[in-house]
Amino acid sequence: MNFSSKLLENAVEEFSKLPGVGKKTALRLVLHLLKNSSAEVHQFSNSLTTLKDNIKYCQKCHNISDNNVCEICLSPKRDSTIICVVEDTRDVMAIENTHQYQGLYHVLNGLISPMDGIGPADLTIESLLERIKSGEIQEIIFALSATMEGDTTIFYLHKKLKDFNIKISTIARGIAFGGEIEYADEITLGRSIATRVPYENTLMK
Ligand SMILES: [Zn+2]
Repeated sequence: MNFSSKLLENAVEEFSKLPGVGKKTALRLVLHLLKNSSAEVHQFSNSLTTLKDNIKYCQKCHNISDNNVCEICLSPKRDSTIICVVEDTRDVMAIENTHQYQGLYHVLNGLISPMDGIGPADLTIESLLERIKSGEIQEIIFALSATMEGDTTIFYLHKKLKDFNIKISTIARGIAFGGEIEYADEITLGRSIATRVPYENTLMK
C-alpha cells in the first residue's frame, strides 16, 4: 500500500494490528475517523487509554471490572453457593444475557492448551481452589467451550475438585462439539445451563 501521508500510514498500521483487521479495513476505519470532529476522535482515543489505565480485574472472580470487586460478586441477589467457571469475560456476558443464572462466576483467563504452552499455572485455578476452600461453595458448573482445550481444562479441574464435598456439573451439550460459548444463541445457552449434568456422567466409561 502506498500512502500519501506517513501519519495516515502509522494510524493504519496500528489498526491493522487488531485481530481480524486487514490493511484495507484499517484504512477504511482510519478514513472514517478522520471525517469525525476533533472532539469525537479525542473521545475515541481517550476511552481506550482510560480503559487501559483504569480497568481492574475482580479480586474474587477475575472478571473485568471498574472496581476491585465486581458488581456480580457484590450483589446480594446472587447465589453465592454456586460458581460457574468460564474462560473469559465474553462468556460471563453471554451467560448473563440469558437471564437464566443467578450464581457467581470464576473467570479462568484462558484454557489449558499444551500446544500453545498454556498450563494450569497460567490460569486462575489456584484462586478458584481458594474460593472453594473457604467453604461456602456447594456447586461448580463448568461452562467451557466444547473443544479439546475446554475438555482438557475440565478434566484437570475435576481431578483437583473431586475431593471437595461439592456438586460438579457441566453445561448440557446443547453446545455443538467444537462450539464456542460466546457464539451460542441465548436460548441454547440458557437451556444448557438449566439442564446441566453431573460431570461424572459425561466421562466415557
Ligand atoms: Zn467478581
